[in-house]
Amino acid sequence: MEIGKQEGKSLSPYCLVLPFPLQGHVNPMLQFSKRLNYKGITRITIAITKFFLKNAKDFPAASFSVETISDGFDDGGVEKVSPQEYYNRCWKSGSDTLTELLEKLRSSGSGVDCLIYDPFFPWALDVAKKFGLTAVMFFTQSNSVNNIYFHAYKGELKLPLSEPEIRIPGGLPVMKPGDFPSFIGEYESDPERTEMMLKQFRNVENVDWIFVNTFYELEQELLKDEQFSRSSRRELIMVRAIGPTIPSWYLDKRLPDDKSYGLNAFKPITEPCINWLNKQQNKSVIYVSFGSFAQPGVEQMKELALALKMTKMNFLWVVRASEETKLPKNYIDDVSEKGLIVTWCHQLDVLAHEAIGCFLTHCGWNSTLEALSSGAPMVGLPQWSDQSTNAKFTEDVWKMGVRAQKDENGIVRRDEIIRCVSYVMEGEIGEEIGRSAIKWKKLARDAVDEGGSSDRNIEEFVSALVRF
Ligand code: UDP
Repeated sequence: MEIGKQEGKSLSPYCLVLPFPLQGHVNPMLQFSKRLNYKGITRITIAITKFFLKNAKDFPAASFSVETISDGFDDGGVEKVSPQEYYNRCWKSGSDTLTELLEKLRSSGSGVDCLIYDPFFPWALDVAKKFGLTAVMFFTQSNSVNNIYFHAYKGELKLPLSEPEIRIPGGLPVMKPGDFPSFIGEYESDPERTEMMLKQFRNVENVDWIFVNTFYELEQELLKDEQFSRSSRRELIMVRAIGPTIPSWYLDKRLPDDKSYGLNAFKPITEPCINWLNKQQNKSVIYVSFGSFAQPGVEQMKELALALKMTKMNFLWVVRASEETKLPKNYIDDVSEKGLIVTWCHQLDVLAHEAIGCFLTHCGWNSTLEALSSGAPMVGLPQWSDQSTNAKFTEDVWKMGVRAQKDENGIVRRDEIIRCVSYVMEGEIGEEIGRSAIKWKKLARDAVDEGGSSDRNIEEFVSALVRF
């Protein structure tokens, strides 16, 4: 539906999109906004924290405006306080400044109709309801992870985890404690942090829509008839998959794109990566990245560095500037014949390149979806948060890779890394994973293509917004 074009710009509903200020949360919400825009929602504003915007290296497409709120850390310093302190300060400051922003927009004559917010900011729902807005929860984690958190929120998953194998009703496979998100598995050492994570579902009965960045075909066991809202409301709120929120042109190269990435916290090194990849053979390169946040220890970095040096494959490794000191001495020069190390890249451009043979990843949810969508077999080295759960599904359910095993000190050693890379890139198992890769790439593309499962959910949302 092309509302903007058919009914005039002024008739488009006005959506305010509020991501949590981490790259892995900003990217999917920005890409989702592009899809809304493509469907005719012409009035979209991204509300981001002052600190994130001040440090952003590029900006979203001209079709969006950007406004700021404050999480109470406008000059940074989040790393100096406990997660709880951040959370509490953010709750107050975020609520106040979001209220001010909505009042400002209302008094300027462009009242917001709908708030699409990240449940890591649970207070945003209260603000949305105070203004009478349509409230949309947008989960940037997998639906399996949502499901686990939701069961814990309702008290149906007993914490701390005490059984060696845990069954949760509703479509999840049998899980071992190590398969759970760290905020669940490590409940005993920091119960307050777990409670904070579970607040994502606070007042969930008041939301109007629940979106998850996933696709039906990927998590159908969990999406069949799931609703998170078990309230007295007559109308239950279904959880809808709207992903993967990857620009269509990466998946099928048919649709044009504005090529803007938008709101990158890091400056991507693009041309040198692509030029280097262009010189490599098809499916020969290991792409290595731990996303925007994970900080593997020095020992782990050393094992990884040595494994990459020892494999017969060439590699492209993203080592963020803040992590570079963990590399062995003279490493970049030592491996220059076979490896390129950059501080950040355009990951989608890299994953879509035909030279990529496998993705050694921390299994952040976006990276996992991006790998599935571009058909890149994965070797998972999960670090924390939801990454272990994503790694488990990658290996056991989607058959798209393998999870590297840690030793008794919690380190994945070089031999194990080399074994895993060969496992996904070579032999019969490599071929099997290659077939899964082709399957998921197609299913991911179909889901967001015109009439696909995610596309229909977005279409329905847009129609409802317009009717409203
Ligand atoms: N990313 C990127 N360039 C890089 C590394 C990562 O553009 O060099 C992007 C990646 O495409 C993904 C996001 O950063 O969209 C990372 O999100 P993810 O959920 O995988 O991990 P997080 O950073 O949240 O741990």
